[in-house]
Amino acid sequence: MPFAQAPTGALQLKWELRNHGWATCHLADDSHQASLSVSYCTDALADLVAAAGGLYGQLRTARFFFDAEPQELRWVLRATDALIDVTIYQFPDVSVSPGLPDNAGTVIWQSAYSRRLFSHAVLNAAQTVYTEHGEAGYQAKWMLHPFPVALVQDLRRLHLRNDDCGLPHDHAHP
Ligand SMILES: [Zn+2]
Repeated sequence: MPFAQAPTGALQLKWELRNHGWATCHLADDSHQASLSVSYCTDALADLVAAAGGLYGQLRTARFFFDAEPQELRWVLRATDALIDVTIYQFPDVSVSPGLPDNAGTVIWQSAYSRRLFSHAVLNAAQTVYTEHGEAGYQAKWMLHPFPVALVQDLRRLHLRNDDCGLPHDHAHP
């Protein structure tokens, strides 16, 4: 699946909890869409929220991966002055690939967004999950990890304070 470098635009993220420690992370923007299967072998939503929040500080690059059993789906977020570049690499076998360089993987997503729109999309996805499931419902489905309350609160505070968002934030939030 080839992906062209997209200009900055709106990103839609939806985090769909399934059963028995699986979730689907749906991404879409003006030019492409993808649905990533994610297992609870890593605390995937927490890692995504933490990475978005980390880019408000000195950190210019954030990395984490989803374990898609057996694939590794490696996210690399790079902050430039105005944009967050989002690249997701797929590796066939997570039992060996975390030590491999990015360029050994296959790019399955590459796009750049303003920090405002990227963080808004991540926060909105997390808050929608919280609204739908609550903390108890989240852990019942995700099993190994609780809903990342503190990380979502941190990202919400950073986003609202620094991004002059202007988009609605009408979900319940922890
Ligand atoms: Zn916002």
